[in-house]
Amino acid sequence: MVDIRLVFVDRKIVSKFVRKSALGIRVALLIAFLFPSAAVFAGDVILFIGDGMGAEHVKAAGMYLNGSPGTLAFESFPHQAHVLTASADNDVTDSAAAATAMSTGRKVNRGVISKAIPGGGENLETLVEYFAGKGKRTGLVTTTFITHATPAAFAAHTGNRSNYNDIADDYLNNTRPDVLFGGGGRGMNRDSEVSAEYTVVDDRTSLTALKSKPGLRVSGQFGRGHTPFVIDRKNTYPDLPEMTKKALQILDNGENGFFLMVEGGLIDHAAHANHIHRVVTEIIEFSEAVEIALKWRGDRSDILILVTADHETGGLKVIKNNGKGKTPVVEWATNHHTSAPVPAYAVGKNSEQAHGILDNTDIHDILKLASEPLKRPDKSAADTSR
Ligand SMILES: [Zn+2]
Repeated sequence: MVDIRLVFVDRKIVSKFVRKSALGIRVALLIAFLFPSAAVFAGDVILFIGDGMGAEHVKAAGMYLNGSPGTLAFESFPHQAHVLTASADNDVTDSAAAATAMSTGRKVNRGVISKAIPGGGENLETLVEYFAGKGKRTGLVTTTFITHATPAAFAAHTGNRSNYNDIADDYLNNTRPDVLFGGGGRGMNRDSEVSAEYTVVDDRTSLTALKSKPGLRVSGQFGRGHTPFVIDRKNTYPDLPEMTKKALQILDNGENGFFLMVEGGLIDHAAHANHIHRVVTEIIEFSEAVEIALKWRGDRSDILILVTADHETGGLKVIKNNGKGKTPVVEWATNHHTSAPVPAYAVGKNSEQAHGILDNTDIHDILKLASEPLKRPDKSAADTSR
């Protein structure tokens, strides 16, 4: 019996081989038939961040959506953990320091976007830079404006999260993610996006019409500032599941897979306002975006989907379930972030690393490792492909 883990065939090698000979095509087909999940290794990594989404927020959303807690799509993921969120300078973090920890594996002070502060102040390698360096396509999707702290920490460097012009300049001229979807303005504008050779879309219709092709780089900036809350949104805005689906279509045409970060950015804003109805409706949409990725993943084993949060907001406690379609009775402890651990849910490649209590910097390591091949080519496997 062949151990499936021994079979590793790089996507590039397969395509090169297939192009070369008819025999190659037959062998590649045979490999694909015998080992459907191992025939092509993409190592795609998809990270979902619910900004401010603590365990009680998730619980409340399940009650509202289905009448009982524990019922959102990602809550059935096989591997789950609690994540500690402290920044370098405080037990209570902000989105900049928390996202930097996940993106770079380093704790920094609040307000800092992927720079060694405290420390020498040098740029810390972000996940977009790391994965792009591996030949992967990269994308950032959010419901906040795209230069906001969470996406920024994945592809920009600045000592101050409010330096939107610097963040936009890093996106467009330095790190250059292939997909940038979110609210517009705040450093981003059509002229600079076009001159950086991005295809630009600015509403739901133009996003929907966009056709994926290899090498396509898209900036989709919808409105100015944050996109509206789900319950206030006009239909000229794409929703988070639509943006996620389009991002997957655009990213999934490279030879080496991709990295995608999707943020439900307004969960935090609703929690700051202690507005439970907005919290649950934002989380439900966020969960629908996760479902898009799950459906797209199918039964492939070379892909990691990890869902987590950057910090808890509001000190939320669910008191009473009021059943499906009704917001539960809740108590809020604060209008600010707290130091409560946040949940993480993982499925797919390397997901078993998500268990117990993790630090937010561990998320970085889990994501990076997930893109590594299952195992180096075994000699017998290599012989089979000749
Ligand atoms: Zn916040």
